[in-house]
Amino acid sequence: MSKNSRSFYLYFVIIIGLLLFTAWIGMSRVQNTGYTQGEFVRQMEDNEVALVNICPNKNTPTGSVEVTLKGGEERVLYVTDVTQIEALVRSHGLDPRVESVPEESWFLNSILPILIVVIVGVFFFVIMNAQNAGGSSNGKMMNFGRSRARLMLGGENTIKLDGVAGLKEEKEELQEIVEFLKDPGKFTQVGARIPKGVLLEGAPGTGKTLLAKAIAGEANVPFFSISGSDFVEMFVGVGASRVRDMFAEAKRHAPCIIFIDEIDAVARRRGTGMGGGHDEREQTLNQLLVEMDGFGVNEGIIVMAATNRVDILDPAILRPGRFDRKIAVARPDVRGREDILKVHAQNKPLGDDVDLTQIAQTTAGFTGADLENLLNEAAINAAMDERVFLKQDDIKKAFVKVGIGTEKKSRIISDKEKRITAYHEAGHAILFHVLPDVGPVYSVSIIPTGLGAAGYTMPLPEKDEMFDSKNKMLQDIMVSLGGRIAEEIIFDDVTTGAMSDIKKATQKARRMVTRYGMSENIGIINYEDNDDEVFIGRDLAHAKSHSEEISGQIDREVKAIIDDCYAKAKAIIVEQSNVLHKCAELLLEREKIGRDEFEALFDVKYPQPGDPAATEA
Ligand code: ADP
Ligand code: ZN
Repeated sequence: MSKNSRSFYLYFVIIIGLLLFTAWIGMSRVQNTGYTQGEFVRQMEDNEVALVNICPNKNTPTGSVEVTLKGGEERVLYVTDVTQIEALVRSHGLDPRVESVPEESWFLNSILPILIVVIVGVFFFVIMNAQNAGGSSNGKMMNFGRSRARLMLGGENTIKLDGVAGLKEEKEELQEIVEFLKDPGKFTQVGARIPKGVLLEGAPGTGKTLLAKAIAGEANVPFFSISGSDFVEMFVGVGASRVRDMFAEAKRHAPCIIFIDEIDAVARRRGTGMGGGHDEREQTLNQLLVEMDGFGVNEGIIVMAATNRVDILDPAILRPGRFDRKIAVARPDVRGREDILKVHAQNKPLGDDVDLTQIAQTTAGFTGADLENLLNEAAINAAMDERVFLKQDDIKKAFVKVGIGTEKKSRIISDKEKRITAYHEAGHAILFHVLPDVGPVYSVSIIPTGLGAAGYTMPLPEKDEMFDSKNKMLQDIMVSLGGRIAEEIIFDDVTTGAMSDIKKATQKARRMVTRYGMSENIGIINYEDNDDEVFIGRDLAHAKSHSEEISGQIDREVKAIIDDCYAKAKAIIVEQSNVLHKCAELLLEREKIGRDEFEALFDVKYPQPGDPAATEA
């Protein structure tokens, strides 16, 4: 729930409370005391009454009679005619005190209700104002269903693409969208179809919002931004109506960009039944899909969405005509970091000794936001020192604060760790390239991913293959072992960094044996009924379908596969040790290398699956 809506609920509760309070006051005044005139007369006859106080109401003959009994007890009687009751009391020899019309009763009857209505009115007024001041430009926040999107008109947005440092490939990929927004006619003329939705995927702080805003700024079109969590409200149907409203608004401003931050909040895989209120979320998501399907291809609305969890998104949003363009926004490499530092140092006077290149080299894994934060802390340090420029030392001190001081996903990596990672990734990459059924290597990186991995070697963007061959599976296992083997050869020691590689290799080998009938000694038999990893408890409850003897045999078979792959992989890496060193050096220098740079390291050309040449041959 957003801050705004939380304060709204607070007001809501206060108002309900006030209303209940009024009702209670009213009720207490007409409360039936159970005291009757008959009882009063009997008590007067029995001489039990000490005092009588008659309080007439204003303008009517009605009133109340306060009776004090001799025992000290007090009773109240409501009567329809006070003069009649006064006569009755006097006829019993008592002398009642008749009060003038009580002030209080008049206040309660006429002033208080008006007062409360006024207070409630003022409350609503205040809330409305508060919400409007809270950043909404459309000013109609009292309506639940209105979109919460913030609108930035073309002229207000001063961010341009050159304000986004690094992210070269990402910007290139988005160039056509900028062109389209500038002049949609150019594209419609020739029947070109421009994606409606672009999904930006990357860690927080890598500049996704900045990038989207810069595209709007560059094309000089309005920019609507909203966070996925703004759609997820307490009341079912609110999110969906917000989506509808936002698209209606956007159509009026087309061409424009709608930016949805944290789209995972609405677009989580449907039907998992996890967490409360998913009905509301599903409705919202459905509405989003309906809207995206609804507008024409070139209507001039580009929906950009950001997430760092593409894995939990509902596959429906990635279908053609929806978010059919996926762009990974990576953590910056060393050159990107230097550029980002330069951008954020623009308004900060730097001393002679400041070396941004050196800072960039020591901040592997930092995102743009981290770097901005680093310079900001450094500027604070300078100001605290009464200096008007930043020194290298300020930045060094700031490091401790942003990098180590707080527990940070992007911690500072030592040179030793970097070297190990470089060789590890180079090991994977070489096997990937040399082995015939796997590859090609698209990029190799030693920029920490923030998800615990020290680097990665990226193969072809996942291909949907009907099945794997035995050879390909064996080669996959070899590739997985490549990182560990390289560490072993170079450092004569191994690290824990290969844990997930080993797991992957083992899993694959085991499946070859127990599922796919790929081992001669075990034969073509399925020994694995079910490996639904969801049901962790299953193994315990489920009787094994095979004997202990077979189990042992399977284990031996798995080990044999791994050992064999290991030996073959090691032989290749030793043979390519030249490339291994060159690749690791290049990685240490650049942090990330692309396919061409990588392939240039080899003297011989190795054909890659999917290459035109390879398929023809
Ligand atoms: P995300 O949306 O990916 O979480 P943001 O776009 O909100 O990240 O980035 C937060 C801030 O970090 C930006 O406002 C900007 O100051 C800084 N930043 C991030 N990436 C870059 C970049 N490539 N160039 C310049 N500044 C950046
Ligand atoms: Zn690895």
